[in-house]
Amino acid sequence: NVRVRFAPSPTGPLHIGGVRTALFNYLFAKKHNGTFVLRIEDTDQNRFVEGAEKYIIDSLNWCNIPYDEGPGKEGNCGPYKQSERKHLYKQYADELIASGNAYYAFDTAEELDFHRKDHEAKGKTFIYNWHNREKLNNSLSLSAEDVKTKLEAGEDYVIRFKSPQDQILHLNDSIRGAIKIDTNILDDKVLFKSDGMPTYHLANIVDDHLMEISHVIRGEEWLPSLALHMQLYTAFGWEAPEFAHLPLILKPTGKGKLSKRDGDKLGFPVFPLEYTSPEGEVSRGYKEEGYFAEAVINFLAFLGWNPGTEQELFSLDELVAAFELERVNKAGARFDPDKIKWFNHHYMQEQNDDAIAETFQKQHNELASIDVNYIALVVGLVKERATFISDLWELSSYFFVAPESYDEKASKKAFKDDTKDLMLQLVDIISKNTEFEVETLQTEIKGWITSNAIGFGKIMMPLRLALVGALQGPDVFDIMYMIGKQETVKRIEKVIA
Ligand code: GLU
Repeated sequence: NVRVRFAPSPTGPLHIGGVRTALFNYLFAKKHNGTFVLRIEDTDQNRFVEGAEKYIIDSLNWCNIPYDEGPGKEGNCGPYKQSERKHLYKQYADELIASGNAYYAFDTAEELDFHRKDHEAKGKTFIYNWHNREKLNNSLSLSAEDVKTKLEAGEDYVIRFKSPQDQILHLNDSIRGAIKIDTNILDDKVLFKSDGMPTYHLANIVDDHLMEISHVIRGEEWLPSLALHMQLYTAFGWEAPEFAHLPLILKPTGKGKLSKRDGDKLGFPVFPLEYTSPEGEVSRGYKEEGYFAEAVINFLAFLGWNPGTEQELFSLDELVAAFELERVNKAGARFDPDKIKWFNHHYMQEQNDDAIAETFQKQHNELASIDVNYIALVVGLVKERATFISDLWELSSYFFVAPESYDEKASKKAFKDDTKDLMLQLVDIISKNTEFEVETLQTEIKGWITSNAIGFGKIMMPLRLALVGALQGPDVFDIMYMIGKQETVKRIEKVIA
């Protein structure tokens, strides 16, 4: 029974790496008919940010990767917010103390700082573990009586995991394979604090166990925690889930981890949705910049995974079918902002023209009073060249308003001595065309050009210039048909005026 979880801490907006983690969990769950759980890890109250939880949920919804269980979708393992599970954790910390796997420590921040600096001065790193814990201020060095007195006096304490000496841990990661860790380099991580809150490590393991998580799929930055987590499972006597650590997401240069600043510098967002921090700082979002969720998802799927074939375009359902943890890479995945545009261009073509037209209309006052069906037809004619809906106006404004000026270079190319005379003849043909349909227009105009051996360029170039203002755009006959007879004639007369 596959149960996976996405367990973000609401310390700020979910960045694109977090969405990738959520996506891979979602794909894995759906592929195995499993359950995708969202758990909010908000035990660190100093780093809690108002609104971040809502942002996470909104982002998953926008990306179309909803969770099955989580805040607002209670299942059998709720509540799904660690702050609401606060009462649960202490008993587990106590259990570890009773079994000799954890101990109380009373060192003050100043004392720890002193040891850190003292070690540094000697060119060493201070590791709180068997090397020195007997000399520090904790229940392994104090008498049981002293410990009791301190606890009763309400002294600040932490509960630390007692990491073993001289052991080699054999760990396994589905993506990285076997990993060996020497316990002598591990420190005695804090599991619980006297403010009544567990740390990430304890809460995470207890909840993964209680929520019956079968596979932990998370970012590479958590790989260093794996040794502790596996030891916690052993200490509790619980069966551990399988672990898979997803590769880092690298800067566009391929060097170093992608950061928010890379996006700001190079002009691309690193967040799914726009986010305003409590301090009023705005971070740009893919949604607001005109990206389609399908493009973002398809792009993210390829950050660290590939199907092993040439296929690059995948719908969400196709991703679910093709996804395999075994095909996730170990090596960091380079974030290529041009590639996500390429996906967006593709998904732009897949969108329904009516839906695009509605959004497009809202973006431009000039379109407010124009029939949305007409706008949709225009969209159908030009979208091939658009990556974003916001590209459409530049590509199609002449369908709505006559060009105000003409491209200079194009004018020089299009206008010859006889152009004016030929355009007048053209106006005459057009005026007499009563049906004004693409086909008859085409037959009549092309027939006239051929039978008089005028040459297509001589007519098509100035005609296009008149209609569009430049030598671009879709088929001129489509344009004429769309803007209508009167407007066509008006524009031709204007270009030769
Ligand atoms: N709360 C951790 C985070 O913010 C979860 C890490 C994990 O998945 O174990 O990413």
